[in-house]
Amino acid sequence: PAVDDAPRAAALVNLTAVERNVATLRGRLRPGAVLCAVVKADGYGHGAAPVARAALAGGAEKLAVVTAGEATALRAAGVDAPLIVLGPLRGAEVAAVVATGAEPVISTDEEIDALEADGRPVAVHLKLDSGMGRLGERDPELALERCARVGASATLRLAGVMTHFATADVPGDAAFARQLETFARFAERARAAHPGIVVHAANSAATLAEPASHFDMVRTGVAIYGLDPFGADPAANGLEPALTWTSRLAAVKRIEGGGSVGYGRRWVAAAPTTIGTVAVGYADGVRRALGFAQPPTEVLVGGRRVPLAGTVSMDSFGVELPDDLPARPGDRVTLIGADGGERVTAEELAARLQTINYEIACGISARVPRVYH
Ligand code: PLP
Repeated sequence: PAVDDAPRAAALVNLTAVERNVATLRGRLRPGAVLCAVVKADGYGHGAAPVARAALAGGAEKLAVVTAGEATALRAAGVDAPLIVLGPLRGAEVAAVVATGAEPVISTDEEIDALEADGRPVAVHLKLDSGMGRLGERDPELALERCARVGASATLRLAGVMTHFATADVPGDAAFARQLETFARFAERARAAHPGIVVHAANSAATLAEPASHFDMVRTGVAIYGLDPFGADPAANGLEPALTWTSRLAAVKRIEGGGSVGYGRRWVAAAPTTIGTVAVGYADGVRRALGFAQPPTEVLVGGRRVPLAGTVSMDSFGVELPDDLPARPGDRVTLIGADGGERVTAEELAARLQTINYEIACGISARVPRVYH
């Protein structure tokens, strides 16, 4: 892999890992099912267009985003693969999506009205809320009526029916089984009335844990980036993290006993200590709460784990450097990824923040350049 020579910070994205992850996931699909790569939220922070190309190279047949802006940006970047827009869409967003040739996900009569008013031909996916309690029509009878309305429309075509699971990441969960059953019953009736539709439900966790949920297509997001949907070790499912997040030591200095580091003097040296100032902060997505974690959050310097020292600032944070570590300004700091024999994972940072790896990846801000290899 290319070495990071960004002066301040970089999110290094291994596109070959994305390609391999997609191929690995495809290898686990029920025969006949295809993979839709979810590249919303700028490819979970990895960069939507490069990830989309890598996923297609790995065998993805479709892409999915959430917003009209994300669809337009992918097209502007030259990605012309089949695209689903998960939505919801309102007002001018409807026309913007139709113009991209993407397939919007809808569930209400108002959305059907808006697409018919647009007048251009468009293929849509009808969403059933089988238990997530978020988007989608909750009543299967009404959802089937809307499928019929789409089927009878002069300009709309029913491309598929779908749902989304709330608890696919909880092995053996009864609510997951109920959602699957509700959706399967609905999908069977929809398919009888509309032969040729694409039936899809599974996210990454369901793709890995429940082949019965694969239907005609899975919508895998987090796993294509090599992040584990169960918050455990991605390697257990043969997945490889694509993301490495690095920065640099901007300064290395000796703080005398009693001296402090950062806002609020929250870290005070018990004895003379070498402190490194790392050149990223909360404006880059290093969550301020990481500075309050117990045991302290660690990053890698010179292949060693070193603890954060003091409050995370907007543009920097401190680390405590061991006396036997010959660190100098400009040295690489790894926030996520491997250095020497050590590794910090997105899952580890997520656990410190009582959140999920998804939020860690999406939280790396636009100020951090994405570098592809
Ligand atoms: N489908 C829908 C409707 C989603 O909202 C998402 C993301 O949350 C996905 C699929 C992909 O989920 P995951 O990243 O867990 O694979």
